[in-house]
Amino acid sequence: MSSITPPLARRLGGLQSSAIRDLLKVAARDDVVSLAGGLPDEQLMPRDRIAQAAESALADRARLQYTESAGWGPLREVLAARETVRLGRPVPLEEVFVTHGSQQALSLLAEVLLDPGALVVVEDPAYVGALQVFRAAGSRIVTVPLDAEGMRVDTLADLLGRGERPALVHTVSNFHNPRGVTMSPGRRRELAELAERYGFWVIEDDPYGELWFDNPSPEPVAAYSSHVIRLSSASKTLAPTLRVGWMTAPDAVCRGVELLKQGADLCGSALTQQIAAELLADAEWLEAHVREVRRVYGARARVLVDELRMRFGDRLVSTDAAGGMFVWVDFTDGTDTVDLLPRAVDLGVAYVPGEAFAVSGAHRNSMRLCFTTSEAATLREAVARLARAIGE
Ligand code: PMP
Repeated sequence: MSSITPPLARRLGGLQSSAIRDLLKVAARDDVVSLAGGLPDEQLMPRDRIAQAAESALADRARLQYTESAGWGPLREVLAARETVRLGRPVPLEEVFVTHGSQQALSLLAEVLLDPGALVVVEDPAYVGALQVFRAAGSRIVTVPLDAEGMRVDTLADLLGRGERPALVHTVSNFHNPRGVTMSPGRRRELAELAERYGFWVIEDDPYGELWFDNPSPEPVAAYSSHVIRLSSASKTLAPTLRVGWMTAPDAVCRGVELLKQGADLCGSALTQQIAAELLADAEWLEAHVREVRRVYGARARVLVDELRMRFGDRLVSTDAAGGMFVWVDFTDGTDTVDLLPRAVDLGVAYVPGEAFAVSGAHRNSMRLCFTTSEAATLREAVARLARAIGE
């Protein structure tokens, strides 16, 4: 009997798995130092505290139940108190919404804020997870570049001046993934002013803001305007497995997200939300824990940046080791990072070519390096291998 294959939805047509991702699968070999991953270091994750909190959560059978779609009440209270301090204004409970990692917030927000074909502005290079969401939503995507002070808000102003009317602007304001940079306070204010003047939403996607090394991150963009939806996450400070992210947004946006979250998964896990609540509420412990993560990542980042500059001199420009998980490198000598990758992997080092994050620009002379999971000596060896691959 002949069979007719039922079709998949048309919206999948434009989505593809990246060729670079396939190449990097090879880099999982034991003899390859991978600076390609984007994972926090599990050795620094507070396993024992999580186990204790899980134990006490399960003492209450109610934690086995479904919870509120907007998140377990006591967790939202802890988060509202934190956001009140961060934003410098009272944040009521209705404006805090817990999601399955901040990635789910991106996905649900795309449905709440974007009609098909809506214009979305992203930074170039972009956080790939955001691009996936906006592409799946059928958005028209326009880019603005980044420089050492983060998003080029003047380029956005030019776009607006030419009559472009975005529904949404996405920014990773602190220690950008993949570009490593942080938006300056002046640009934050300008971006918020543009959002108010032209009536668009800003998603301030901020999973890395707590991971500063020497100087605390600037005031959030969301401190300047209620048009800014702020996303945070426990993934980088506690552990990704909790899948606890949260959004601070106007009540109407939270209620829209609530309707869709009911359809997506009814609610998050009351168990991991209680664990997160307990750890985030223990201010003294949390401060010491995050300080240690900053210390270890800061030391690794400095080794990586110093080693790159020492070995390559002015053949490359790298971001400073200021925070987050990534260093971005631009080769000034024409090194093509896509062509280089197979040879680099052969010689035992992997990275992500800039092209993997490209939207408009090519970023063929750039790479993203992740320093979180390698000790200092390993990072030095990785840079030595990279130098060999390029043929110093
Ligand atoms: N936003 C950015 C910029 C990220 O880099 C990531 C994770 N790599 C996320 C959101 C999603 O993180 P999570 O869902 O674990 O909170």
